[in-house]
Amino acid sequence: MITINSKLPQAGTTIFTVMSALANETGAINLSQGFPDYETSPELIELVNQAMQQGFNQYAPMAGYLPLREELSRKTEKLYGAYYNPDTEITITAGGTQAIYTAIATVINPNDEVIIFEPAFDCYAPAIKIAGGVVKSLELEPPDYRINWELVKRLVSSRTRMIIINSPQNPTATILRQEDIDALYDIVKNRDIFILSDEVYEHLVYDGEEHLSIARYPGLKERSFVVASFGKPFHATGWKVGYCMAPAALMSEFRKIHQFLVFCVNAPVQKALTEYLKNENHYLGLAEFFKQKRDYFRHGLAETRFDLLPCAGSYFQSVRYSRISDEKDADLAIRLTREFGVAVIPVSAFYSKGTDHHVLRFCFAKKQETLDNALERLKKV
Ligand code: GLN
Repeated sequence: MITINSKLPQAGTTIFTVMSALANETGAINLSQGFPDYETSPELIELVNQAMQQGFNQYAPMAGYLPLREELSRKTEKLYGAYYNPDTEITITAGGTQAIYTAIATVINPNDEVIIFEPAFDCYAPAIKIAGGVVKSLELEPPDYRINWELVKRLVSSRTRMIIINSPQNPTATILRQEDIDALYDIVKNRDIFILSDEVYEHLVYDGEEHLSIARYPGLKERSFVVASFGKPFHATGWKVGYCMAPAALMSEFRKIHQFLVFCVNAPVQKALTEYLKNENHYLGLAEFFKQKRDYFRHGLAETRFDLLPCAGSYFQSVRYSRISDEKDADLAIRLTREFGVAVIPVSAFYSKGTDHHVLRFCFAKKQETLDNALERLKKV
């Protein structure tokens, strides 16, 4: 037998695949994996159609269709007052996950340390480990999951090469505020530490608060990879198109890897997104659209025995369940799916040590009817 030296000996199958498969198998309402159950806009679908008819069916340029990168550059400048050169500082990727993987692979060498905040989206730690890096995680706790920057300072060593931030945060639905950004800057300013800023939920910030993109801060921008996505804002997670922005020197290294990992991303979708992005209403209205869903879902959950945690951004709502049971979150997630017909994500899956604060995550990017049916079932728990 050939020996396999696993790169990820501890990894199982991602919780999203596990819970969506269980939802499909049992016919449960799937509020686990984060994706909408309503269609993307017919206008956008028509634009993809047209792009295919017009012959956008061969390889796109390696870094992405240039007019799309130009649109993104304009959008970023308008929203965040930050300029990225479309030619040298923006690359279109096969979704946020590939951008994250590539950014980590670009700067992390064996034994380099990367600080992450857990519960963390589950692709960060594996990408760090595959690069030979060492994950240094700071565990955050409900209900507010605030970052204690004094503890971050203590985690920093001479081998720290990257800090990964995620705002709005998946799964906690928290956002970074000005004091967090200031504390982060204070830590990295005189050190060789890169920042990977996962901003795929940038447009989903509620209650009049602002998305503090890392691009807004020149002292941070110069050392950061900013990752964003089209799947989340345009309700098309299955298209797997996202992008990464970084200063030219960093982006040049990023592209060396990107070209051999995916080469380029599908052409007709890039062409369509270019046209679609020209109308800013297509993304500026998203916060209001999702806020209504958030409020509706929270209102319904308030009539159950689940206890709501705050939701400042993203399309996730977490709850505690001490009034219902003291079982493990993973066990309750399976029981809710099998016995009550609602699939959810146990938040312990986002801690590398499996820390269980008895918290479950729901995705509320669903039709009203789906939310109604799910709430009806959750009231019986
Ligand atoms: N981002 C989505 C979530 O958090 C799904 C990610 C995935 O399935 N890889 O549920």
